[in-house]
Order: sequence, then C-alpha cells, then structure tokens
Amino acid sequence: MSVNLQTPIDYLKGVGPNRADLLRKELGIHTYQDLINLFPNRYIDRTQYYKINQLQRNNADVQVIGKITSFKEVAQKRGKRLVGTFQDDTGTMELVWFRGQKWLKDSLILNKTYVAFGKTNWFSGKFNMAHPELELLEDHEKNMRSAMQPVYPSTEKLNNRGITNRVINKIMQQLFLETKGRFTETLSDNLRSELKLISKQSALFNVHFPKNQELLSRAQFRLKFEELFYIQLQLIIKNLIHKSKIKGFPFNQVGTYFNSFFKDHLPFQLTNAQKRVLKEIRADLGSNAQMNRLLQGDVGSGKTIVAFMSMLMALDNDFQACLMAPTEILSVQHYNGLLEWCNKLNISIEILTGSTKTSKRKIIHESLENGELQILIGTHALLEDKVKFKNLGLAIIDEQHRFGVKQRSKLWKKNKLPPHVLVMTATPIPRTLAMSVYGDLDISIIDELPPGRKAIKTVHRFDKNRLNVFKFIRDEIDKGRQIYIVYPLIKENEKMDYKDLMDGYESISRDFPMPKYQTSIVHGKMKPADKDYEMQRFIKGETQIMVATTVIEVGVNVPNASVMIIESAERFGLSQLHQLRGRVGRGAEQSYCILMTSHKLSANSKTRLETMVRTNDGFEIAEVDLRLRGPGDIMGTQQSGVLNLKIADIIKDNYILQLARHHAKSVLKIDPSLALPENQVYLNTYKQLSKFKNIWNYIS
Ligand code: ADP
Ligand code: MG
Repeated sequence: MSVNLQTPIDYLKGVGPNRADLLRKELGIHTYQDLINLFPNRYIDRTQYYKINQLQRNNADVQVIGKITSFKEVAQKRGKRLVGTFQDDTGTMELVWFRGQKWLKDSLILNKTYVAFGKTNWFSGKFNMAHPELELLEDHEKNMRSAMQPVYPSTEKLNNRGITNRVINKIMQQLFLETKGRFTETLSDNLRSELKLISKQSALFNVHFPKNQELLSRAQFRLKFEELFYIQLQLIIKNLIHKSKIKGFPFNQVGTYFNSFFKDHLPFQLTNAQKRVLKEIRADLGSNAQMNRLLQGDVGSGKTIVAFMSMLMALDNDFQACLMAPTEILSVQHYNGLLEWCNKLNISIEILTGSTKTSKRKIIHESLENGELQILIGTHALLEDKVKFKNLGLAIIDEQHRFGVKQRSKLWKKNKLPPHVLVMTATPIPRTLAMSVYGDLDISIIDELPPGRKAIKTVHRFDKNRLNVFKFIRDEIDKGRQIYIVYPLIKENEKMDYKDLMDGYESISRDFPMPKYQTSIVHGKMKPADKDYEMQRFIKGETQIMVATTVIEVGVNVPNASVMIIESAERFGLSQLHQLRGRVGRGAEQSYCILMTSHKLSANSKTRLETMVRTNDGFEIAEVDLRLRGPGDIMGTQQSGVLNLKIADIIKDNYILQLARHHAKSVLKIDPSLALPENQVYLNTYKQLSKFKNIWNYIS
C-alpha cells in the first residue's frame, strides 16, 4: 500500500508530537508532502578535494589535502590567535584558531597529511580557513563520505531544540523508507523525453541525497521546471476560463468620437508603440470577452492619450468610461488635460474626489445614473457605493501599483456585466516577473518615448556641494526654468522628515528670496485645497521652485520644470527615484536630475545611485531593483504567490520560467481542457494542486 502524502507529519517515525509541533510552527511543515518539499538551501560537497590554487573567493565549504608545516601565535586585541601554515603541492594557505590553542598545538602533528574542511576566506592576499575540521588522511579514507550533505533551511529555535540539520536529514531518510521513495510522476513522458528531464522519483531522491553534482543539477532542474510549469499552467487556464466565461460588452464600432479625434484633434503624431497598443486594446474591446489588460509604459511614454482614445471607443458604443488615479493632484491634472479634448468633441466629463462638495456630488451621482455624464475621473471616491453608473463600459486605473487587487475588483462590481478593465503603470516590472505575477492579465507595453525628448542628465552630489547646486538652480531659473526639490517622507520617521522638509523650505526661501523668486511647498499634511492652490501656482509658472515630499511622485506634468533635486536620495528606492526623475524631461529643454546624499552610503545605496546616473531606461532600472530587493517588494508579488516558490527562484531561474511557460502554453493550445489521454497527468496534478490552496494561493 502506498503512503498517503497528506499524512500528518506526526505519524512519521522519529518525529512525534513535540517535534511535529516545532516543524509546523517553524517551517510550516504539516504533512509528508510538506517535508518532501523542504528543499536544501545548499550542499556541502565532501566528495571533491580542492588544490589550494583552485580555491575561489566564494565562501564555499571545501576540503583540501595538505600538511601543516608550522605554527605561529599572533597577538591580537584580545588574546592571541594560532595560525598554522597549510601546504599542498600547489601553494599555501592558513589555518586559524581563536580558541583551544594549546590542545591543538599538542595534538596536531606537523608535516603529516590532513584533510582540512571548512569555509575559506580571502584575507590580505591569502586564503585562510578558521576552525577547520581536520582529519588525518589515513583516517579520512577509512570512513570516506561518498555523498554530498544537504543543508536544510532552519531556525534558531529548531537548532536550540535539537532539530539540527542531521535530525532533518534522518527524518527525511525515514520518509523515503516509509514511502519506498515512490512518488507519482507529474510530467508527461513526451515532455520528459523532449526536455531530457529525469523522473520525479529520481529527482526527489537526488535533491535530498545527491550522489554527485551532475545528478543534483538535473534533479534541481527537473523540480524547478515542474514548479514553474504548474504555476504557468494554472495562470493560463485561469486566463482561458476568464475569456470563455466572462463575457464583456462587445464594442462593435469605432465611431464618430474616435474618428473625429483622430482626424481633427490629435495634438501630435502617435508613436508606433502607442498605435500598436491601441490596436491591441481595440482587438480586446471588439471581442466578446471582457478585457483585462495591463498597460506598462515608462514615465512620459504617453499612456494618457491611449487611455483617452480607449474611452472614446466606449463612448462610441454608447457606454460610459471612468479613470481612477491614486491622488487628488493627479486626478485634477487628468481632468484638466482631458477636459480640453472633451470640449472639442462635445463630451461631458466630471471629476469626483474626496474634496468634491456635497451639492456637486449629488449632480454627479444623478447624471451618472441617468447616463448624461460620459466620462468620470477621480480618486478612490469612485469606489463608493453611491457612485452608480448607467452603463460603465470601460474602467481605467492609472498607476495601478497604488491600488490593491481588491479595489480593482470593486470597480468591476459596479455593473451586471463587468466593464472592460485597463490598468496602467509606469513602474515597469521585468517581463518575466510580470508573466508570473500578472499571468492572468494580458500585457501591453509602450516601449518608445515621444520623439524629441532629450535624455535627462543625472548626477550625484554630496551635501557639501550644495552651494554649487544652488548656483546651478539660479542659472536655470534665470533661463526661465522651474525646479523641483523633493524630500523623503518615510512613515516611521515622519516627525524628523517634516522637520527636514520645513528646514529645507526655509533655507531655500532665504537663498532664493521674494519677490525675485517664488517658492511653493506641497506635502501630505496640507488641506487638499491648499495643496491644489500651490500646485496650480507652480503649473502656471507663478512659482519657480516647488519644495515637496513624494506626493508629487506620480504623474504630475509640468513641461517647463527642468531640474529635479532629490534630497537624501540614498533613502529612496530605485523605482521611486526613477518615478521622481520622470517629473522632468517633459519639455523641449535639457533636463537634469541631481541626487543629493550625505557621505555615508551603504553598498546598496551606492548601486542605486550609480544605476540612476548610468541609465534612464525604466526596464533596466527595474531589473537592478529586482536584484537588489528580491521580488518581495515589487508590486503585486505579495498576492501572486511567486514568493512561495519552494525551489525555483524567480530571478535566477528566469530562463526555466520562460521554458516552462512556453511548454504550458503549447499543451493548452492543443488541448485547452486537458482531455487527451497523454495530458491526464496534467489534469490530475492540476486538480490536486487546486485542492491544496495553501501552497498555491494565487488561485484566488
Ligand atoms: P505617462 O505615460 O507618464 O502618463 P503622459 O501621458 O502624461 O505620460 O505623457 C507625457 C507627455 O508626453 C504629455 O505632455 C503628452 O502630451 C506628451 N505626449 C504623449 N504622446 C506623445 C506623442 N506621441 N508625441 C508627442 N508628445 C506626446
Ligand atoms: Mg501618467
């Protein structure tokens, strides 16, 4: 009889209730299955021997055969350390001990051959190994270890309570004994032979008890592929079900609004990327399925006009459209921008935000319900229950990373049939990550900036160069330009940050005195009306300097502003820096971004600053960001489950992900319902996985 892998871990011999409890709490291991899926972080390879001249600066645990030729004692701050010179036929390294020196000196024999095992460090031009495990070669050969030792993830508590790596290794062995190492295959024979993947059984065995490096690599590859393959399979199935089940309003015609705007009112020629994306959206809207599309485009790439023209398609088919933005400032700006175009086309448009007056609100609610109002712009206020559309056909969400998934679906529920949904973001995420996070969305990318833009020049300056920076600001203002100065505002540091902001504002006002210079200030604690007033002054060019916190991060468009100064730039994340920089470079003039920092910088901050100085490419910046931070902080990943990967790494195993996606797609293309006999294995695994949502929580 085969063992049920859903058996609670308590039943495994050698585990028992106490250990089971710890395993559950510390590692989330509830069942046999969970234990099998506890994969080692790394392996100690004691099957290989390294020559001293082969050692790499990689901190690996290695073993080296050689002789101790001499000892010396080196005085240090507290006490002394014992250093042995260790030699083989290729060179020498040092063995170092900080404790137990007398005993060591007495028991170790000079000029006899030892196997030294441990982590190597590179220190003043030489490798050393601190507190190595030492064994005489002759003893070592008697009890040679033929296999690599896996090192499992652990916690301090587990170690303290005696569940060491060895214990985990033992219970893993027990599990393989009880199950006889038989595990159901989850990939088809065809696929396995095509990709030369080893069997599930062999892969699981070798990942826990690898005989050699090659088998280990093949085991890992097979398991990573499988994990990513099933994520993709599920995402694609979800997308297919969505498309077949969720009917959308077909927008059959491109009509007067769209055509007249395109012919008579287009303010500039669309870029090829904008045209391509509009075609993609048009195809979705014309089909019977509901559109669910993510539009990615770097700051300034021109997403707004694409959004507007999509709304015109809705209006042409007698539907309403709405556009939701994360902040009041941004909503107002969208409204003002679109109002101009709407007036030309005789379209009714309104704005609804937290600060809309009750009387005005009433009018909006009414005209929305009776269908007189065609386009509604606004903030979260759009989500309130009172806001009812007559027939909402298209909902657009700008800067989607500011909203949660829940809010997105709330917009949906405003109709009997869900409206088409377009979410736009200027925070590019690497394509492969987007595939796993938003695999259920279709993705369009604007990868081209409007012509004539000059690349923004970015420099990094230390605080002590502030006078030069001020001189530069003065020169730019004399040329008629406007300046942003942005301060960080981090929640846990709020008081200090506000103080910095106000100090900065005062110092700027002193160095740039009225009436020659006018300075605006905008921050989150101001009343919306005051914020708007200051913002408008800057937009109209009445003030030359805008001192602000990151409230201006998203979307603000003042083409005449040509300098962005970011204070304490080391405290900002890369994507935030990139967003902020995107506020300038919107006009014809050369623009600049100046990153001000103190002298003390972490390695991580240095990389961020260097990246900003080196490139303007949002996708490249996103890749660096992903490497620095890991996927955890990237938008959407929290909900997506890519963080719960058991063995694959969304960044390092990128190409396996692409391979897996490719094959998942091909399977479903031929057999979308997984009905063919050779695909039964996928259907069964898919059902199995859907049952245990705790692991696969992206199936919402
Ligand atoms: P974002 O993608 O950051 O939302 P916007 O839609 O705000 O970018 O566009 C940025 C600026 O570029 C706006 O001033 C807009 O009018 C202008 N713009 C957009 N598309 C084009 C184009 N094809 N040619 C010239 N200017 C354009
Ligand atoms: Mg925008």
